[in-house]
Amino acid sequence: MKLAQMITGRKRTVMALLAIVLLTALGSCALMVARDRGAADLKPGPFRNAYVIPEDTGERVKGTYFFRRAWVQLTRDLASTEVPPVIPLDLAAMQQQSFAVAWLGHASLLVRAGSLWILIDPVLSDTAGPVQGFGPARLPPLPLQPGQLPHIDVVLVSHDHYDHLDLSTVQKVATQAGGAPQFFVGRGLSEWFQWNAGSAAREFDWWDEARVGDTAFRFVPAQHNSGRLPFHKNTTLWGGWVIAHAGKQFYFPGDTAFVNALFEDIQRRTGRIDLAALPIGSYEPRALMRFEHLNPDDALHAHQSLQARRSFGVHWGTFQLGDEEPFQAATDLALAMKTRTSAEIGLMPIGGFVAVECCAAGDLRRAGDLQPVRARPATEGAALASGQR
Ligand SMILES: [Zn+2]
Repeated sequence: MKLAQMITGRKRTVMALLAIVLLTALGSCALMVARDRGAADLKPGPFRNAYVIPEDTGERVKGTYFFRRAWVQLTRDLASTEVPPVIPLDLAAMQQQSFAVAWLGHASLLVRAGSLWILIDPVLSDTAGPVQGFGPARLPPLPLQPGQLPHIDVVLVSHDHYDHLDLSTVQKVATQAGGAPQFFVGRGLSEWFQWNAGSAAREFDWWDEARVGDTAFRFVPAQHNSGRLPFHKNTTLWGGWVIAHAGKQFYFPGDTAFVNALFEDIQRRTGRIDLAALPIGSYEPRALMRFEHLNPDDALHAHQSLQARRSFGVHWGTFQLGDEEPFQAATDLALAMKTRTSAEIGLMPIGGFVAVECCAAGDLRRAGDLQPVRARPATEGAALASGQR
């Protein structure tokens, strides 16, 4: 084939792929409006961050960034993509714990507290986006089938971004056998739950607290934003959660940028954090992401400002949302750890769990000890079969 013909052929392929990306984006937007019913009615905000980062001009993602991300999705070679290992979640072992936390991938967590089962930011779909099958794809499988979940008592939602609040998952959990769970959400989000899941949701302002039995739930500030549509910015409140049970506390910040005063305030107002699940992924390009997300080095700083006894990394290795490769967060965390030998921050395989009380069953691994595996294509409902390792 002549060089000119080859170039023309490649150009045509590129143009075709760009057209697919564009149509996908437009199609997604139209369907998103149709499916996310009630979203346009949410008007309690706009909310603002409690802390000021002087260098933050407020300028965010440009259109070219979304095209770059879409391009990576379309052209990714799964065979050469490294992701965290996945093990089947041992629910029977977890049920024996009085207070423990399991990682379901990305920012989704399952918590056992006394007799309660709690889900945090559950996204069990194969893609994290407005429409099933479009958007960032799940790279490693789920550690259990959604149908294997125990009866959920409480669902905590940090904010309304698609990788934290998934329509399909919420609808599944809302219609679970034995009745819907209690949904705890930030201000302005209860209407979305009423419209989309037919379930009531209790709204929290920052520092609000509620109890369910002998477990307390407190909504705390985070440095982030919200919005499921471009014209919907910051109409619902974002934040993190502190769960207190049997004299121990677990903290999950949701998504947050690094602000030292934020973590110091949380430590001062809530007391000792025994275990924290800190987000460490989606941090490149840094010039943009530093005002939205922690990088592994920030997570170490946050861990120290919180004076947390132990922490582990989440929000990585599952859906690629930043420019860094899915396993890069683990590599960068191991690198950052070298400069701070005192920090107790580790990693878990997806499907692993850890007790909130230090050093009981299901302990954490050092960042450098977690070995990557190859990604697999996600298919509807794909999960690691029980017993398969
Ligand atoms: Zn977010």
